[in-house]
Amino acid sequence: MVVFAHPDDAEFGMAGTAAKWTTRGVEVAYVCVTDGSAGSNEPGVDREELARLREAEQRAACEVLGVRDVVFLGIRDGYVELTLDLRRDLTREVRRFRPDLLVAPDPLRFWDDRRMYINHSDHRTVGQACMAVVNPDSSTRPMFPELLDEGFEPHEIPYLWIPMFSGDPDTFIDISETIDLKIQALRCHQSQIHDWPVDEWIRDRARERAEGLEYEFAESFKTFKLREREREEREREEQADESPAGSDAEPAEVA
Ligand SMILES: [Zn+2]
Repeated sequence: MVVFAHPDDAEFGMAGTAAKWTTRGVEVAYVCVTDGSAGSNEPGVDREELARLREAEQRAACEVLGVRDVVFLGIRDGYVELTLDLRRDLTREVRRFRPDLLVAPDPLRFWDDRRMYINHSDHRTVGQACMAVVNPDSSTRPMFPELLDEGFEPHEIPYLWIPMFSGDPDTFIDISETIDLKIQALRCHQSQIHDWPVDEWIRDRARERAEGLEYEFAESFKTFKLREREREEREREEQADESPAGSDAEPAEVA
């Protein structure tokens, strides 16, 4: 499950990886927090109309990527606050889809390394909300009892991945086979891309990410193994309690 602030965020951050997952039969769900209605500085643009257009663009991008489950929370673009309402709405989606892996924006990214860009506050705030959803909201029964009434049982998220544009990623995904799909999906966001040479820009960034690796294009992530760590600790305790025989359990497969 991929949670992001604006239509097109997921395409920039990790659409090559999403496409790679869907082509291997992994079910991918998108949760878009805002309506994208601030995505134009042209005077006289109607926010409602732009929101409708951006939802259609996001759905077209999902079609390209094989992402069949997409939800729009509909918060006004630019107005995202860290509220219990947002945490509950995200928790509802997590408990519904029950992902093995959550992709969330970086809550700590205030600006880029070269200090040429201040990160959009919606991105950061959605990242913060997602951290609360991972712990405690989605896994803790007493959190949001109204969700239990709606039939959504707690869900513990095993893996958390944060797309990294710079900084210190620990995981690189070879997107050489899906970079064309990523570009095609980005082009679906016509209201944002206009005649921008997105092809060249995306290839350059993905090539930078793959520097020193044995393939040409990459996306990069900071990753957390949340449930695996608990399980490993439990297994270690069990082994200490019982015989010295080793466990032949394989580490959990990601995606
Ligand atoms: Zn954005």
